[in-house]
Amino acid sequence: MTPSPDIVVIGSGMGGATVAAGLADTGASILILERGERLEPGNGERSTRAIFVENRFRTREQWRDGNGRPFNPGNFYFVGGNSKMYGAALFRFRREDFEAREHPGGVSPAWPFPYRELEPWYGRVEALYRVRGRLGEDPTEPPHSTPYPHPPVPDEPAIADVRERLKRQGLHPFSLPLGVDVDRWLAGGRTPWDGHPDTRSGKMDAETCALAAALAHDNVRIETGAKVERLEAAPGGRRIASVHVRQAGAPRKVAAGIVVLSAGAVNSAAILLRSADGANPAGLANGSDQVGRHFMNHNCSAMLAIDPRRRNDAVYQKTLGLNDFYLSDGAGGPPLGNVQLLGKIDGTILKANLPWCPKPALDWTARRSVDWYLMSEDLPDPDSRVRVDGEDIVLDWTRANLEAHERLTAIMRGVLKACGYPVVLAKPFDRRTPSHQCGTVRIGDDPSRSALDPHCKAWDHDNLYVVDASCLPTSAAVNPALTVAALALRAADRIRRSVLDAQGC
Ligand SMILES: Cc1cc2nc3c(=O)[nH]c(=O)nc-3n(C[C@H](O)[C@H](O)[C@H](O)COP(=O)(O)OP(=O)(O)OC[C@H]3O[C@@H](n4cnc5c(N)ncnc54)[C@H](O)[C@@H]3O)c2cc1C
Repeated sequence: MTPSPDIVVIGSGMGGATVAAGLADTGASILILERGERLEPGNGERSTRAIFVENRFRTREQWRDGNGRPFNPGNFYFVGGNSKMYGAALFRFRREDFEAREHPGGVSPAWPFPYRELEPWYGRVEALYRVRGRLGEDPTEPPHSTPYPHPPVPDEPAIADVRERLKRQGLHPFSLPLGVDVDRWLAGGRTPWDGHPDTRSGKMDAETCALAAALAHDNVRIETGAKVERLEAAPGGRRIASVHVRQAGAPRKVAAGIVVLSAGAVNSAAILLRSADGANPAGLANGSDQVGRHFMNHNCSAMLAIDPRRRNDAVYQKTLGLNDFYLSDGAGGPPLGNVQLLGKIDGTILKANLPWCPKPALDWTARRSVDWYLMSEDLPDPDSRVRVDGEDIVLDWTRANLEAHERLTAIMRGVLKACGYPVVLAKPFDRRTPSHQCGTVRIGDDPSRSALDPHCKAWDHDNLYVVDASCLPTSAAVNPALTVAALALRAADRIRRSVLDAQGC
């Protein structure tokens, strides 16, 4: 048994690193247990072949789908978690995302609190992650009490031209809110950052921002290569007594005053389910039978707008978004989703997705395409779920609201053709890529219908918090990481109060 820290945080991604940053100045001893290692330079981090063909950075794990078929998920286990690979589009959920809304595929339920409750926390995490953006361009932007801390990442000339074409269609393209220092990033290689691993070279991610802030305090430390297998409840079940960890093949137990589980939406649910005991046969924090349910992961497609007469010489490309179809279809109909540029794709990435196509044709296409990412809300469904079968993870994802995504795809095809791109190709992202996984240990104000209270504390246990994308009750249709971070800083504020009480302050 390792000597007991005041707080154990499991996972150093967006949720775990941000909660640690929020608690570091309490002076409490904080131990972060992270299964991955630090990403170091020199392993093909700017090579699209290494990243997208050889899958060098992806976990080697196999999960099973709802039909029992094994698959290798697009999950990344490093210090900093999935944020090391992310596109760093750091959006606030829209005000309407916190309210119940009718979608083509059903109702997206209300959060236990409105947007204004999370607004100050959004401002703080925008400062922590040094977000670049500009207010006043996106008609769906919710109220901000603080402006973006930095001006937006500039459009490259080819993208400035796309912006003007969209405006001429009467649309409202806006500068994506981004967490990247583009000059530093490009100094490490003239590549996009989206989907590329960050070896501390300009991306504002969980390691470079929140973890760095946390580790600046002597009372915070991280152990890497430390995979948490399960939690153990104390007799009576109200408290978590210890965390079972495997490190370099050896098992050990860590006792803690407070446990913060931040292993990502699939792994946090799996850890709770694997922690079943005689008193909690369905797993810990699961008196409501909600753990693992309501798995969501956005319905997404890549869309290539191609003008055979014009080359797109953008390097990073990812500076524009479009929310004209976010709150309605543009004609008073239902919400459809968000559109944003992808990092510039190349022929190697296309070949990884279309292996039957000749590479020269794909190189030619990629040099002329403007590449978009279309994202629609997935709705919470209790039968869309993570289960465990012994050591195995089963991800039985039932997608919802595909109608909205099909309509968004059809509308954007028309928009891009009207903008002067005669060829528009679309391909849905496949089911093995749970990049925006969420919802599996959700917050709520009814203990019979949620696993966590609105501050991410388990209803069933006094010293257990789950602070990562698991806690989101809905997926909205913008990228989730900033919301995960805002919820983490807010949860840290609640935990801080119990730490200070324990210290008699
Ligand atoms: C390619 C890609 C692009 C993306 N682009 C964007 C984007 O542009 N904008 C955006 O908002 N979001 C983006 N996302 C999503 C974003 O990265 C996630 O929403 C965010 O990282 C979720 O935070 P989290 O804390 O839930 O999980 P993570 O950040 O993944 O952190 C989980 C951590 O727990 C660790 N862990 C897992 N299991 C264990 C265990 N058993 N023991 C110990 N440690 C464990 C993991 O190694 C990891 O460090 C992207 C994701 C991917 C994969």
